[in-house]
Amino acid sequence: MIQKRPPIVVILGHVDHGKTTLLDHLRSTDVASHEAGGITQATRSFQLNTSKILKNKSATSETITFIDTPGHAAFGQMRSRGSKIADIALLIIASNDGVMPQTKESLEFINAAGIPFIVVFTKSDLPEANPDRIKTQLTELNVVVEDLGGPISSVSVSAKKGTGIPDLLELINLMAEMNPPQADPDGQLELLVLESRLDSKKGPLASVIVKNGTLSISQALFQSDTVGKVKALADSDGLALSSATPSQPVEILGLSIVPAVGSVITGSPTLSSASQVSDSHKSNSAILNLILRADVAGSLEAILSQLSPEINIISAATGDISETDIYSAQTSKAKIVGFNVRIPNSVAKLAEVDKVTIFTFDIIYELLDKLDEILHPKIKEIILGKAVISAEFKINADRVAGCRCSEGAIRKSDTIRVLRGDAVLGEVRLKSLKSGKKDIESVKTGQEFGAVFSPFIDFKPGDIIIAYALG
Ligand code: GDP
Repeated sequence: MIQKRPPIVVILGHVDHGKTTLLDHLRSTDVASHEAGGITQATRSFQLNTSKILKNKSATSETITFIDTPGHAAFGQMRSRGSKIADIALLIIASNDGVMPQTKESLEFINAAGIPFIVVFTKSDLPEANPDRIKTQLTELNVVVEDLGGPISSVSVSAKKGTGIPDLLELINLMAEMNPPQADPDGQLELLVLESRLDSKKGPLASVIVKNGTLSISQALFQSDTVGKVKALADSDGLALSSATPSQPVEILGLSIVPAVGSVITGSPTLSSASQVSDSHKSNSAILNLILRADVAGSLEAILSQLSPEINIISAATGDISETDIYSAQTSKAKIVGFNVRIPNSVAKLAEVDKVTIFTFDIIYELLDKLDEILHPKIKEIILGKAVISAEFKINADRVAGCRCSEGAIRKSDTIRVLRGDAVLGEVRLKSLKSGKKDIESVKTGQEFGAVFSPFIDFKPGDIIIAYALG
């Protein structure tokens, strides 16, 4: 049965504007949920029960899910996959600073996702805080707050002092009440991957949010194919859970792959393949995560339309490459490709430190060629030596090929391909290499030798053997 579920709230804004501090503060206010026993912090997304904080303030007392999307990786996905990650966004702006490039970028994300948002002026405790000035700035971006007669809610908070936090939570509850988010806990399972990584001891781990259905232990999971079975579930404090319901962030142990950030995991193979059909960049077959930046929308569209389905677009936008892109690339293990854009020095340095690869181009086909080369690295075969099989002997149980090296050199350790005309009979190794009765390590052009192949191969005189290496 379709039921109300907690709203999922995503926090966006310019770097250093106080997103992490606000999340940390919210997380710590919910003391009750931080029971002893949590070993690790499993996901950075968490649920907050606002009833205690708001007991004197509001009639509504609701659970809110906050998701921390480092960079914009998962959020960026939302646009390319059309799957809604959040119900409400908080647009964070430091009240001592103002509208910055990533504030605008965040607003673009929010508008593209078509979700309601609240402007949160952080650091209100600072003497230089001036939210009124920023409210005026915001009108230039068509964001008119209620104080100025517009429709957008705003609130001033200090995560340091805790002021304004109850007002913020109340605003979120009110917004969720106006348009209650819904899901069916008994329906088809749908999980959205927020973060994923490979743990050296535990194997693939994914932090997901339950969009629909109920996730439980032993459940089989699918993308287009099976991707494992739930061995254990943990909440944001690392505590074991037996199940998770809609809007709950949870970490899954038991996956056989590291799923792409932003991809969807389901509980049945048919549902999964059906939902993937409309997806032009299937993450399950994707082998390269990409962040794309271009100078103008036209070139961006042109590039996007020509990308291989093996590419999973983390985000695609116009503008220069920014620090956020680097963080996002690091989180989602993506490469960054720019077309006619610049890399500011500070960003280039950050990329170097974080070991993020950036390529820039000013010709589209060169960009596409590069991606093709990354997706399908051309492995060159280097021919080390060639020989012709001229005779066949039997020595004990072994079938020995009497050969003459016609080109280069062949070592005993080389990989050998046996050819009959143009046809490949098979790939073998040399179990023994002899000159007369003597074991030898290699042969050179002109030398005759006896070879025993492993595994057995049905050669005959006239066949050719080639020793090769991959380079
Ligand atoms: P993020 O990059 O948006 O996650 O920003 P952070 O949460 O890391 O905050 C950036 C800086 O602002 C840090 O030095 C914080 O201590 C400081 N900061 C964050 N919130 C507040 C606040 O409410 N008051 C004051 N005075 N400083 C804050």
